Amino acid sequence: MASYPSEWEFDVVLRDGGVVQVRPVKPEDSDGLNGLFEASSTESRRQRFFRDRDALTPEELAYFSTVDYQRRMAFVALHEDDIIGVGRYDVLDDEPTSAEVAFLVADAHQGRGLAAQLLADLTAYARRHGVTAFKAFVLADNRAMLRVFRNSGYHLEREVHEGVYTVHFPTLESVESQAAMWETEKQAIAASLTPIFYPRSIAVIGASTTEGSIGARLFDNLGAANFVGPLYPVNPSATEVAGVPAYASVLDIPDPVDLAFIVVPARFVPQVVEQSAEKGVRGLVVISAGFSEVGGEGEKAEAELLDMVRSAGMRMVGPNCMGVLNTDPAVNLDGQFGPRFPPRGNVAMSSQSGALGIAILDYATQLNIGISTFVSVGNKADVSGNDLLLFWEDDPSTDVILLYLESFGNPRRFSRIARRVARRKPIVAVKSGRTSAGARAASSHTGSLASSDTAVNALFHQAGVVRTDTLEELFDVTALLANQPVPGGNRVAVLTNAGGPGILAADALEAQGLEVVELSAELRADLGRHLAGEASTRNPVDMIASAGADAYAACLDALADSAEVDSIIVIYIPAAPSGAEDVAAAIRDAAERHRGKKTFVAVFMSASGVPPELSGQSARVPTYLFPESAARALARAVRYGEWLARPEGSVATFDDVDVAQARGAIDSGLARLGPDGGWLEAAETEAVLRSFGMQPARADIAATADDAVAIGNAIEGPLVMKVQSESALHKSDIGGVVLGIEGEDEIRQAFETVSGVVDDASGVLVQEFVPGGHEIILGMTEDPSFGPLLLFGLGGVFVELIGDVAFRIHPLTDLDIEEMIAEVRSARLLEGYRGGQPGDVVALRQAMARLSQLIEELPEIVEMDLNPVKVLEPGQGLRVVDARIKVRRVEGPFVPSRKDLPAVVRR
Ligand code: ADP
Ligand code: MG
Repeated sequence: MASYPSEWEFDVVLRDGGVVQVRPVKPEDSDGLNGLFEASSTESRRQRFFRDRDALTPEELAYFSTVDYQRRMAFVALHEDDIIGVGRYDVLDDEPTSAEVAFLVADAHQGRGLAAQLLADLTAYARRHGVTAFKAFVLADNRAMLRVFRNSGYHLEREVHEGVYTVHFPTLESVESQAAMWETEKQAIAASLTPIFYPRSIAVIGASTTEGSIGARLFDNLGAANFVGPLYPVNPSATEVAGVPAYASVLDIPDPVDLAFIVVPARFVPQVVEQSAEKGVRGLVVISAGFSEVGGEGEKAEAELLDMVRSAGMRMVGPNCMGVLNTDPAVNLDGQFGPRFPPRGNVAMSSQSGALGIAILDYATQLNIGISTFVSVGNKADVSGNDLLLFWEDDPSTDVILLYLESFGNPRRFSRIARRVARRKPIVAVKSGRTSAGARAASSHTGSLASSDTAVNALFHQAGVVRTDTLEELFDVTALLANQPVPGGNRVAVLTNAGGPGILAADALEAQGLEVVELSAELRADLGRHLAGEASTRNPVDMIASAGADAYAACLDALADSAEVDSIIVIYIPAAPSGAEDVAAAIRDAAERHRGKKTFVAVFMSASGVPPELSGQSARVPTYLFPESAARALARAVRYGEWLARPEGSVATFDDVDVAQARGAIDSGLARLGPDGGWLEAAETEAVLRSFGMQPARADIAATADDAVAIGNAIEGPLVMKVQSESALHKSDIGGVVLGIEGEDEIRQAFETVSGVVDDASGVLVQEFVPGGHEIILGMTEDPSFGPLLLFGLGGVFVELIGDVAFRIHPLTDLDIEEMIAEVRSARLLEGYRGGQPGDVVALRQAMARLSQLIEELPEIVEMDLNPVKVLEPGQGLRVVDARIKVRRVEGPFVPSRKDLPAVVRR
């Protein structure tokens, strides 16, 4: 019997936002299962067993609680230690790849989506254990269960016979079943966060009477912002706080409490959380510090805290956070202790740093960026940035999402969610700190080429996240995206009343890859009609210092009405002592007149700041002090627009691959290498590559010179000989590679040469010489938190020197591949640059897609260098002439997608 698969334990958010724990059944669950049965109504029992049952027999209980985690499997759902639901499958005797599924959910918990969740977990588990089809018997009047199957998105077949439906379906994921899972996830997570963003009543545990303390400031803020519901201070040593009667404990509050803020010293937190659970509080914001951020004991305390929160079905922001706020007048929630309640607006933000959060709110207010909701996520023990993305995805108050990130809890989930959310609203992020990737030992070209930031950059790029390098840029681009449409293309017009800044803007735009387009003669004539004779109507359009508000208005109209540009940068320098306000108003009004048609960006180079006409609540033109910031922000918005316009791409699957053969080669390598794994031998490497349709050059290993001659004769044509040894990572560096060998004498001589370069030669590789072609590198390295990264570059042995490479996170879509090739500048050589020999780019694209599939199917692979691969002439394909693959043992059933089950919250 297989052992208990603890990696299948998780916390799940249900449709109504409540949290339950789901885990594989254990023998000691027999009492709990009996309890569930006893508490079930006659009707529920009949639906499960198809007849009236009074009790389960001891044999049945033993059977239900003892599974083998292979052919018989069950998941139980728990709420405060009670089993409230169970879903199981039993493999059919006559059909080892099919299983029968059945569910029982406690009456009080029906309608919460529990059966759907258990079904999703069972199918995921079944897929991993070779069970390809499920079958269920359902009484025809059991509409709820039939609905669960129907809404699951699996491809169902149903038959009805004497009042019983037989439902069959493959456990294989379908587009529909995935979509159904992700939709469930989004709704569940959003519902679970509702008590935090829209509480009807709030308790502040640790509301303090000490002026200036965090507990006092938080309580004051909540009151000052006019929170719409009742506010209860909890403080055992005060009778009132800020004039409001205080309670000694949350349990003493006579009315229900939705949300509790916790501002007590860390050692008291468990006790007050316990009381909050008992009180039925649904959301917690734990401001208190002293948890995982201090390490050691703090980490333990945080894990225990999370356990209490989850088993009580609550959600928690923090610990060690600054709070949350929601400017929606329906709640007026200022649940943070900073001095600023920002103006209402369409930007949502999460910050991983509390202190920075305060600065951010301050700055946002200054820049006139309105906030919808703000969360300081602190240690992210429970509520993560990923959860917040799901909440904001459908939030009508939010148009732009800002993230200040220091780390990713679950980057794979982030990537999946961000890709979808970014299609609807821009996500702007600044990521500080270094990722753990930097710590990776680099024993391959690919490993040494991947910098600590490679994975984050690739992730953001693929997911359409707008990455900024500094906080200042974060706000610059946010001001644009929150107020103006995403540019429809990269053509920009610059309109200015001074030549210098116009040229600076044009330079900055071009440096960012935007196009300061040549304007047509008609448009220029049109502009000229409103300008002085000395003005220049060439882009950048220099209206000269005499231009007033009227000229601005007329020229902006002309540019906005033309089809020649996508965005307009309008620059003003206060050349005359007055008139700035009029020009500002003219810009604001023009932008409103043409709203949605063009993207407007303003630059006001004035020491006295931006006039109120452009900075007030009604002004929706982002205004910058310098042309460079405007150009940079605009460029980021244009890139995002390009990402939006590009199709989603698809991941290819080749059905001519032989996974079993590849796995066989890896297994024999692992048997030799031991549990820690290591680099495969040449023959194993070749088998892995061939199984996935890659084309290694023909080769064999020679132990003696005679062997080498025999192998050479079999290959025919010129040869290459290479030393094989553990120590020689880069063979040619030490003279271990001889090229262009012909005839027996040369073979014998080369054998002597290459086997002599190291002490530990294990043999000599005799390989077919592949003439011509372009040398490229294809590689893979595993980032500890982001998963596999794939590399493409040119350069063979010089690849590190030149560094002209592209990385993407696995899996690669056809578009990722296209982009990687386009991103590598020297890849233009493959197109026959300046009369050079072209390469087989079609075969290259295919090889990259095959590599991605290979990575998917063989999680044992941790690192790989194919360097070089020779790209031959069009139609001739590729030849891998040097390959190294590093493997390690993967324990138990490999479950890459476990964390990607719906509504599963990270443990
Ligand atoms: P290493 O990377 O360990 O130094 P390689 O096997 O990559 O050794 O060989 C070094 C270089 O020799 C390659 O970059 C390539 O230019 C050339 N080379 C190696 N094998 C072949 C081959 N079979 N046909 C043609 N050229 C080869
Ligand atoms: Mg090499």
